[in-house]
Amino acid sequence: THRPTGLELDSLDPEQAAAVRAPRGPVCVLAGAGTGKTRTITHRIAHLVSAGHVKADQVLAVTFTARAAGELRNRLRALGLGGEATQVQARTFHAAALRQLKYFWPQIVGDVPWRLIDGKFPIVAQAANRAGLSSATDSVRDLLSEIEWAKASLIAPEDYPAAVAKQRRETPYDALRVAEVYAGYEKLKATPDGLLLDFDDLLLHTAAALEDYPAVADEFRGRYRSFVVDEYQDVTPLQQRVLDAWLGERDDLTVVGDANQTIYSFTGATPGYLLDFSRRFPDATVIRLERDYRSTPQVVSLANRVIGVARGRIAGTRLQLIGQRPDGPEPVFAEYDDAPAEAAAVAKSIQRLIDAGTPAAEIAVLYRINAQSESYEQALTERGIPYQVRGGEGFFQRAEVRQAVSALHKAASRDDLPGAARSGAALVTLVRAVLAPLGLTNEEPAGAQARERWASLVALVTLTEELVAHDDKLDLPGLLRELAARTEARHPPTVQGVTLASLHAAKGLEWDAVFLVGVADGTLPIAHVLADDGSVADEAKLEEERRLLYVGVTRAREYLQLSWALARGEGKRRTRRRSRFLNGLVPDDSPASRIAAPVPESAKGIRPTCRVCAKPLIGTYATMLGRCRRCPAELDAELLAALREWRAEKAEALRVREFVVFTDTTLT
Ligand code: ATP
Ligand code: MG
Repeated sequence: THRPTGLELDSLDPEQAAAVRAPRGPVCVLAGAGTGKTRTITHRIAHLVSAGHVKADQVLAVTFTARAAGELRNRLRALGLGGEATQVQARTFHAAALRQLKYFWPQIVGDVPWRLIDGKFPIVAQAANRAGLSSATDSVRDLLSEIEWAKASLIAPEDYPAAVAKQRRETPYDALRVAEVYAGYEKLKATPDGLLLDFDDLLLHTAAALEDYPAVADEFRGRYRSFVVDEYQDVTPLQQRVLDAWLGERDDLTVVGDANQTIYSFTGATPGYLLDFSRRFPDATVIRLERDYRSTPQVVSLANRVIGVARGRIAGTRLQLIGQRPDGPEPVFAEYDDAPAEAAAVAKSIQRLIDAGTPAAEIAVLYRINAQSESYEQALTERGIPYQVRGGEGFFQRAEVRQAVSALHKAASRDDLPGAARSGAALVTLVRAVLAPLGLTNEEPAGAQARERWASLVALVTLTEELVAHDDKLDLPGLLRELAARTEARHPPTVQGVTLASLHAAKGLEWDAVFLVGVADGTLPIAHVLADDGSVADEAKLEEERRLLYVGVTRAREYLQLSWALARGEGKRRTRRRSRFLNGLVPDDSPASRIAAPVPESAKGIRPTCRVCAKPLIGTYATMLGRCRRCPAELDAELLAALREWRAEKAEALRVREFVVFTDTTLT
């Protein structure tokens, strides 16, 4: 009658089992990526519940994203907890706080109405305006991020200037002005119709309710008895305060985390609480895991080397991972002439993996900034490979891109320019001019939000340059048709597709095959942590960039490729080089460190021509829509196949150097 379930402890190694079986009380699992931390906490919850130590609905498990919370619930369900699994509260900090606040509000504030702000932007814009600052989108967004950081770090407006001075933090304006906007924002939220609360207020009020109202605290603490936090290295001081308020004098808290995966410092997250856990709870059960169950020894070895450079910098974490899985292929390092060639080659490799039986859903392309998704959406679309962009919209759905496209439409309808002035290189100039007021500055702007927006606009200009390189007669209406075709041809989101995600959005997840793209200096590490001469401008931020690479590498179960491009666009100067993080990992005498001669035109093959107008076909447009762009002719299947073939060959010719570096797996 014994029915084995996933709960069997023999599916855990001795250290994992010790964490699962530890008596109720403080437990801390400090371990690297892929060692089974998330798995351990789900087993621990299941164990505590099934052994009767605690009821399912008395467990509150918190994570940092709704998706991670959902995944935790799924894993619990898979463990055979069945109906009970759904009673475990697995939520984000905010969702848990929102629920509690709804319940406790009448007891603490009486009948003062409140509601959650659906957009903070207009309020911050108003506050900026009152402080005499620009209410332009970018500056408001950056003020907003700054306010969020301050609140998450428990810094009040009056303490803000001193705090940023102490931390030598880059601020969008003079700190006193930011503080003024912050204070103004807080005041504006108290409206005559009630209080407006933002997400951070939810946490602040929840903590305050428990701290200041014993009756509320008693009721809450009677209800929830056991607390679990995944990815604890990401906790902010504000979230920690809520956690402390939940706990009160109790200590039934299980945390798991990896200080080497701290990649959210810019939001106020700090690994300090994780690393200090055993000081705070001297009788805590502290467990270190070092067996890596996710990745092949080859991937594990690379991960060790990536983070090994930082060895000793983060105290208290054991850094070596020991691979448990059978051997797999060596990670591939690939260098391409330019970014479009990189995207085309990655799409081709993905096609090969899919053809060989890897499901598309088991493949991911990971990049540093969202604007990088454009070339990969394009390259996958051309091959008809389904994909979804995780944690963000597709390129053409992004607000700034839609805004830019509509500005281009307006410019086209104004028609004040003679037609010829607008084609070829002049078109690029025109596009730059139209996008300038939307934030396309020459220099990369300061502030994370402004940079993101800027990068999208730069990607649009790059796309224009590329189209012009293929067709120097391209004019503005032609460009708009190209953009429309691209928007249309893009796949609808699909859950079975290849995942395109930023490194930040990839944390905690895993895929059979991972392509880390744009591993170039100035992208990873990102440009603003470097000074103009390439030296390090901000050491702490540089280390966070290195951790991002570590997070990326450790997402791969089997196949891993790291690639970069020497030039931004086709025919552009090769000003870029591979990421400094690969120094010592990729030997300097490897082909990648040599500058290759440009690919000769002849190697690129002969571009097929339209059967009707006899002009060379414009690749992307024609392959996607099956039509010639210069005349209305439809392409027949044979011509379409020839065109696809030519494009693939060209991509092949442009793939300059792809090589493997044998990782010494005996080191792991
Ligand atoms: P990350 O730091 O990236 O969040 P993690 O430490 O949370 O990683 P998990 O996601 O829990 O790691 O586990 C990584 C993979 O290893 C999962 O596929 C999991 O099922 C598997 N795994 C973990 N422990 C074991 C084990 N004892 N036996 C077999 N597989 C395991
Ligand atoms: Mg995890």
